Amino acid sequence: MELKVHSYESMGTYDGPGLRLVVFLQGCPFKCLYCANPDTIPAEGGTVTHPEEILKMALSQKPFFGKKGGVTFSGGEPTVQAEALVPLVRELHENGINVCIDTNGGIWNRHVEELFSIADLTLLDVKQFNPARHLELTGRPNTQTLATAAWLEENQRPFWLRYVLVPGISDAEEDIRQLGEHFGKGRYRMIRRVEILPYHTLGKNKYDSLGLEYRLKDTPLNTKEQLERAKSLFDEYFDCAVLN
Ligand code: SF4
Repeated sequence: MELKVHSYESMGTYDGPGLRLVVFLQGCPFKCLYCANPDTIPAEGGTVTHPEEILKMALSQKPFFGKKGGVTFSGGEPTVQAEALVPLVRELHENGINVCIDTNGGIWNRHVEELFSIADLTLLDVKQFNPARHLELTGRPNTQTLATAAWLEENQRPFWLRYVLVPGISDAEEDIRQLGEHFGKGRYRMIRRVEILPYHTLGKNKYDSLGLEYRLKDTPLNTKEQLERAKSLFDEYFDCAVLN
């Protein structure tokens, strides 16, 4: 079964531990206002790719992965293509390659469940804990994302929780405290790291070239104080929070 690939990044240091080959897959059911890759959202597009090609690429880069690195499937939303990913992840494992899945956790079916059960690490983006503000930000409820986190915890699958801090959209103390009460203070023992990701506008130019409106054009970048305040709030609930 083939995969629709948007692009690749070699030697990535941002999406998972160590040096990684990051495979950005096409298609995502969310429509985040700040999405840096809006061209990965439509299901149409991307390059139809045989999984063996990705395996070959990973094997050629394996010497650089070291002990911690490997392959990360990102997007778009990689679980859209879970059925095709499962056998590829198994092959990567047979070749001693670590696999991370970078996901919004918003899709669930038996293939997604299998994918999460074999991934070495899941990078779970929680865009907002508040249901109404999540809907506003992504166009979708956060119910499944929270259910996915609960499944990872129950099934003892390690994960990183990632949170993009957008001024005026996801940086309210009340929302962060609710997230902390839900996941923190030792309640989720499978959370290995909490990453606070500053808001950036790197994808902004893509919106112009795609003829789309960038709806956060008036949203400023985080100040140093905002980032530090958020970090100390997260620190009240987690002992593994980092500012990225
Ligand atoms: S989940 Fe990721 S790829 Fe999908 S719209 Fe949001 S930021 Fe973009």
